[in-house]
Amino acid sequence: MGRLLVIGCGGVAQVAIQKCAQNNAVFTEMCLASRTVSKCDALKDKLEKQGTPVKITTATVNADDVNDVIKLIKEYQPDAVLNVALPYQDLTIMDACLECKVDYIDTANYEPEDTDEPVWRAAYEKRCKEKGFTAYFDYSYQWAYMDKFKEGGITGLLGTGFDPGVTSVFVAYAKKHYFDEIHTVDILDCNGGDHGYAFATNFNPEINLREVSANGSYWEDGHWIETKPMEIKRVYDFPQVGQKDMYLLHHEEIEALGRNFPEIKRIRFFMTFGQSYLDHMRCLEDVGMLSTSPIMFEGREIVPIQFLKALLPDPASLGPRTVGKTNIGCIFRGIKDGKEKTLFIYNVCDHQECYKELGSQAISYTTGVPAMIGTALVLSGKWKKPGVFTTDEFDPDPYMEMLNEYGLPWVVDENPVLVD
Ligand code: NDP
Repeated sequence: MGRLLVIGCGGVAQVAIQKCAQNNAVFTEMCLASRTVSKCDALKDKLEKQGTPVKITTATVNADDVNDVIKLIKEYQPDAVLNVALPYQDLTIMDACLECKVDYIDTANYEPEDTDEPVWRAAYEKRCKEKGFTAYFDYSYQWAYMDKFKEGGITGLLGTGFDPGVTSVFVAYAKKHYFDEIHTVDILDCNGGDHGYAFATNFNPEINLREVSANGSYWEDGHWIETKPMEIKRVYDFPQVGQKDMYLLHHEEIEALGRNFPEIKRIRFFMTFGQSYLDHMRCLEDVGMLSTSPIMFEGREIVPIQFLKALLPDPASLGPRTVGKTNIGCIFRGIKDGKEKTLFIYNVCDHQECYKELGSQAISYTTGVPAMIGTALVLSGKWKKPGVFTTDEFDPDPYMEMLNEYGLPWVVDENPVLVD
């Protein structure tokens, strides 16, 4: 029924592609395209050896170059493009989709690779002052495509990973089925997994370290409140994982939820980190290894965080070594039928189970499955409407059903422990 072009073939993409192959009633043909085509070829071989009925081809593409993406779309003629490369490529791929009138799906919002580029920097500094948060990423660049996508009659589905993605669907689902009004949302992201390395990141190190070393922030009464990195700490006893330290971070779904659910008075995001991870990160930051600004080294320019990425384990290789579980979900407070109500919707995912099924760890798995689900809903027409949207802006029910069907079953707890 559908012909999909997937751009990127890293940790998240490999799960998304294998899940698309499981859902072969929707995904009948796929082109796997990336900068390093050998990864696409290896995955194609794996799926073909398993006897997939999906017709798979591969291609090399440099998604930093809009003309290269346009050329590939024109050649392959897909019904939709799933961008599971990096946030740096969001706008070039959106431009190519617009030019070719093809639906667009991604898992993370745009941020530039070069944060010193003067035009972007000036806009960023203006935005920091106006909006009150200093993260490098925000939705403004992609929301700016709303009218163009509407005129082109194409759908842009932004951020269909777990967080953002599933967490925003949980909010829409809680609102639809459990609350008349939601007052607070706490999004909790717990990784209780252990990969045995002194230091490694569970998804692209550059994107991950940029995110967690930035200032934190939360949404309260219609505006942002910014905190120092790791300034707000809580301890929470996560079902099936146990007690963990968690820290308040800025996170992209807060921006969309704050806009789309103005009734919500406070939205916070917490992620768990062990002390060793934080010590390593602070040390790397103190010596300049997290810097995104190029430096000269032995006659050539290098970007410290990119050099660090080359030293760290590839997140896609963590699968065989990672044991333990993740627990990611949202705790709500609000009103139903005039009474106060609380609710926790969460998913627990086991790293080793993911590895057994698809050869990947749970962070890639919990992102790749929702990437497939969002894409399937766009392709099948259930989530198709012209414009650019986040996952909280559609009917959550088919998405929630597919989470159960494709390996991320969820739990509703109507009497949760709250976060103070
Ligand atoms: P990886 O680094 O493992 O993979 C990135 C892939 O993109 C690689 O195959 C890489 O190719 C390819 N790529 C990079 N640049 C280009 C380019 N210019 N042209 C073509 N292909 C390119 O990243 P992850 O799989 O960990 O992450 C993928 C995405 O998922 C990221 O945007 C990340 O932010 C997002 N994410 C979202 C989450 C969520 O819950 N919403 C959670 C985790 C991640 P090569 O092999 O040549 O380097």
